[in-house]
Amino acid sequence: MTTLPFDNRDGYIWFDGAMIPWREAQIHVLSHGLHYGGGVFEGLRCYDGKIFKLAEHTARLLDGCRNVDMEINYSADEVNQACLDIVKINNVKNGYIRPFAWRGPEDMVISARNISLHLCVAAWEWPTYFSGDAREKGISLQISKWKRPAPDSEPVHVKASGLYLVCSIAKDAALRAGFTDALMLDYRGHVAELTAANFFIVQNGELHTPTPDCFLNGITRQTVIEIARQKGIKVVERTIMPDELNSVQECFATGTAAEITPIGKINENYYQVGPLTKLLISEYEKLVGKK
Ligand code: PMP
Repeated sequence: MTTLPFDNRDGYIWFDGAMIPWREAQIHVLSHGLHYGGGVFEGLRCYDGKIFKLAEHTARLLDGCRNVDMEINYSADEVNQACLDIVKINNVKNGYIRPFAWRGPEDMVISARNISLHLCVAAWEWPTYFSGDAREKGISLQISKWKRPAPDSEPVHVKASGLYLVCSIAKDAALRAGFTDALMLDYRGHVAELTAANFFIVQNGELHTPTPDCFLNGITRQTVIEIARQKGIKVVERTIMPDELNSVQECFATGTAAEITPIGKINENYYQVGPLTKLLISEYEKLVGKK
């Protein structure tokens, strides 16, 4: 599938309550959000036209906006409906939905008290985040020099656009070094997450994952924990140190876009795509309606 630029596609975008042609969904260059990071977004997937965990994603968007003083003027029902409508009108079957709230262009001062808030929702066909081969053999991760910040430095639990600056820098450094993605530590040096996905390891048949005290507690992460517990697998949320990664049996990443993606390599350590990862992938696919 060739990737068309995102400003030049057919279809519609839901923009401040109206369905407008995709190419007309423009904002001014002096938008406050663009300069100062005032944006909050979501990422959802739909499978065979049906959106997975719509209510949870909408709740996270609205909570996130509230937490960064960007309380938008739409109810959860209205945001849900916008997501359903955009999937329908663009005829998206297996794709991605991107609601996005941002601050408008009324002023260039840092204070955002007098700046308008906007919301758009886009949706497009997007079957996989990592390539088929990477998913089969496992992706490779480079431990980044960039750290996830402390919870009193940034609104770490919000999908706020400003937080993704280091994610892009870390991801591109990893790509330049020949890896698929970056694994980020937090400000204390604990293992945290990837640039847009959470992280799990398998140790002695148990699933261990970092405690989400300074990064996003992903909806997929929570779903995978639930599936594992239902299957009788012990799940431990704890501090994971980078040197433990030498003795891990399996590891994988979770996220709406990444789904469950096996990890085959971290720095110089190699891992097999093992039975527990395979089991969870298969259960996740059943749950989302892939098979
Ligand atoms: N961490 C970050 C930084 C992310 O961007 C994402 C993707 N939303 C995740 C984790 C995984 O979250 P979820 O499973 O809710 O998509």
